[in-house]
Amino acid sequence: MSMTWTVTQRQKLIELNGDIALLDQEFDGTTERDKTFQKIERELVQKNKRHLLELKNSGFRPLVCRLESKMVQRLNEAGFVQVTTPIMLAKGMLEKMTITRDHPLSKQVFWVDDNKCLRPMLAPNLYYLLRDLDRLWGKPVRIFEVGPCFRKESQGANHLNEFTMLNLVELGTPEGEQTARLRELAAMMMEAIGLKDYQLEIDESEVYGTTIDVVAGDLELGSGAFGPHKLDPAWGIIDPWVGIGFGVERLAMALEGHRNIRRVGRSLSYLDGSRLNI
Ligand code: ATP
Ligand code: MG
Repeated sequence: MSMTWTVTQRQKLIELNGDIALLDQEFDGTTERDKTFQKIERELVQKNKRHLLELKNSGFRPLVCRLESKMVQRLNEAGFVQVTTPIMLAKGMLEKMTITRDHPLSKQVFWVDDNKCLRPMLAPNLYYLLRDLDRLWGKPVRIFEVGPCFRKESQGANHLNEFTMLNLVELGTPEGEQTARLRELAAMMMEAIGLKDYQLEIDESEVYGTTIDVVAGDLELGSGAFGPHKLDPAWGIIDPWVGIGFGVERLAMALEGHRNIRRVGRSLSYLDGSRLNI
């Protein structure tokens, strides 16, 4: 009779980032299975420990942090200015994004009090800044923010309740050149982090209508949008613009081939993709 892993064994192999092909392995009996499990587990534990030692002795910073730095540097070289805006967002800012009660995203919002929530995205704050910076600097206005965003998610392998978004935006892109510019900026960011295997896909988003997504296989890495857009008038924006929001943990996942985003997210169980309770 052929058999496969027990639920606990399977879980352990996933936690230790065992190869996906391992999970389908079949055995003739429990003795063979359990012996194989012990051997693989030992090897995976060693691999995790080796990685943690490398981090201690030479890497010093988790991949998500290093990716963030690479992207920031590349954006600065391309003339994009970093901004830091509040993580707590007033209700009115969400309403201006049309995220009101019957909007699908509204159920994902973490409310701090009646009037304040944890930002589910960076777009409202960036939209807000564009008008002032346009007045002060003139076009093109090139800015970006990178920082925590929060969404109530039903715990899939690709979603965290708190994740890191990097959102860049350029106001004053010449009319008609928005999609070409989006492609160029997406390529620039992918090049900065050394991710070659990505595709661009047209998608429909709740907030933005038509979006151009950056994907790696089935995994969405980022969403690009452009204006003139129906949300623009609420923010006093009349010029063409382009913007892309990347999930930094998703980028780390794609680069490392992790199947679960929790490995690279803010965590007490994992550090830089390695399990700690080993
Ligand atoms: P998805 O369709 O994968 O749920 P989304 O389209 O709702 O993502 P966007 O609003 O486009 O997400 O956010 C921009 C980027 O932020 C996404 O492309 C993704 O990389 C990242 N992101 C969004 N939600 C999460 C999350 N819960 N956990 C981790 N990353 C996320
Ligand atoms: Mg999206």
